[in-house]
Amino acid sequence: MDLDWNNLGFSYIKTPFRYRATWKNGSWEKGELTEDNYLTIHEGSTALHYGQQCFEGLKAYRRKDGRINLFRPEQNSQRLNRSARRLLMPMVPEEMFLEAVEAVVKANQAYIPPYGTGGSLYLRPLLIGVGENIGVHAAPEYLFTVFCTPVGAYFKGGLKPTNFIVSDYDRAAPKGTGASKVGGNYAASLLPGEEAKGMDYSDCIYLDPSTHSKIEEVGAANFFGITKDGMFITPKSDSILPSITKYSLLQLAEERLGLKAVEGDVYIDQLDQFTEAGACGTAAVISPIGGIFYQDQLHVFYSEKEVGPITKQLYEELVGIQYGDKVPPKNWIRIIEG
Ligand SMILES: *Cc1c(COP(=O)(O)O)cnc(C)c1O
Repeated sequence: MDLDWNNLGFSYIKTPFRYRATWKNGSWEKGELTEDNYLTIHEGSTALHYGQQCFEGLKAYRRKDGRINLFRPEQNSQRLNRSARRLLMPMVPEEMFLEAVEAVVKANQAYIPPYGTGGSLYLRPLLIGVGENIGVHAAPEYLFTVFCTPVGAYFKGGLKPTNFIVSDYDRAAPKGTGASKVGGNYAASLLPGEEAKGMDYSDCIYLDPSTHSKIEEVGAANFFGITKDGMFITPKSDSILPSITKYSLLQLAEERLGLKAVEGDVYIDQLDQFTEAGACGTAAVISPIGGIFYQDQLHVFYSEKEVGPITKQLYEELVGIQYGDKVPPKNWIRIIEG
């Protein structure tokens, strides 16, 4: 494979195989791998008109011993099914989800970035409503697909803090679909994100949609802060996307770093309590937050230039587990023989 492993970004690179399965007449037909990276779907498909679609994102990592790690894929399967239920789509059985993910990883394993490059194979499971339709109701058929693409290290040359700006827009409604991984939330976030980037910020911070007083999300990642007295805090709200990385960090902060770790309210006018802050997610891994711009002021946490010590420790612990260099908590890693 003549890919420049050390300089991969986060863009689509075609890999040979993807998994497809169709749900029809009340059940899943047997899925299979295909080489075609285009979908042919009916023009009336609900995914196109009414946003009846949800997705997942997870990574496969090449270990030092040549085998391959999947990080908590069962959690992605469960979350996909929670999103599916919210949008009135059929569940994808966990065995089918895991079989699809493993088949795609194995079939495309030449595209997994080598150990030590910081890259990984990003997997994108997708569930969409398809078939002949025009009215506003659930689709007659569904398509489940998993494709993958190699991606580079999020930070080349070490963790670097970036700044964020609080948005006037909401990404989700209080009892809407904020906790579901659905395309509609992302469509709603494109304009605010673009405006933030136009002002030289990495992305925007969304506040809670009912009171606009608490931090909810950092772009498409979850927020965490480390308080002066050594507590790990991450926001709790029904309209936040429940990040698997976030729940993993809550556990690692407590079990491996000895911090008190809680989900709670993070008021935007009480940022002084934090000595460090970061964003977390499968794509963002852990991204240190330098500062947050809110009401004409940039609030800087640890530093705009350097990552704080606890954020760095959390990063090393998490990434060490993902690549198989550190002992994982029970059932976090599924090894695929490479
Ligand atoms: C996927 C996603 C995250 C991160 O979740 P992980 O499970 O950690 O990858 C955070 N926020 C939003 C809006 C997301 O869609």
